[in-house]
Amino acid sequence: MTAENAAPVTGDSPNALAAVEAEIARACKEARTDRASVTLIAVSKTFDADAITPVIDAGQRVFGENRVQEAKGKWPALTSVTSGIALHLIGPLQSNKAKEAVALFDAIHSVDRPSICQALAKEIESQNRHPELFVQINIGEEPQKAGIAPDEADAFIASCRETYGLTIAGLMCIPPVDEPPAAHFALTAKIAERNGLKKLSMGMSADFATAIMLGATHVRVGSAIFGHR
Ligand SMILES: *Cc1c(COP(=O)(O)O)cnc(C)c1O
Repeated sequence: MTAENAAPVTGDSPNALAAVEAEIARACKEARTDRASVTLIAVSKTFDADAITPVIDAGQRVFGENRVQEAKGKWPALTSVTSGIALHLIGPLQSNKAKEAVALFDAIHSVDRPSICQALAKEIESQNRHPELFVQINIGEEPQKAGIAPDEADAFIASCRETYGLTIAGLMCIPPVDEPPAAHFALTAKIAERNGLKKLSMGMSADFATAIMLGATHVRVGSAIFGHR
């Protein structure tokens, strides 16, 4: 049994985390990539502090949340007792939440429109905090999904840099659920490369090993660690 698709028993998150870690190590070896070049983001959305604490105690320090309000409600208490925790916002961001997002998160994976760029630029300057920014690409060009269309990515990244003065670290994508992800990961990597971006946030519970093979530097893994939501 591999870590992928193996839903952990609730309450067994430390073992599930270890299984995910082992699978990441295996994928890194196969990809001839240094393990240190891949960051595991444990996606704790919908789970409360009691569910998250065992994963922190098992040594995990990087966590992902998809809602600013939810993260604000549960993380300050957790980060006050354990140092070195990094929080990544992986869900959609509204301009009116940019202030709270810049204050709380160490990385934002959902930069996907000019109004967000503008709001982030303002908050980054006034708070003098610099979360790592990822542009979200709607890699499958799905109408219901957030993100910049692949053929608009170069122009958008240029405007993030030139119009808003933002430092973009990399790209994030969520491939269509009903398609093999490899081609989508490969295209995301290609867009990043031609724009001089080194970081790639791609791969979730079902496909993180494939993403690592195709260059992921950040994998966002929720249910394989915490169980079903
Ligand atoms: C929920 C979520 C994940 C984690 O998904 P799992 O399939 O539970 O690993 C990753 N990325 C984003 C953007 C998410 O919203």
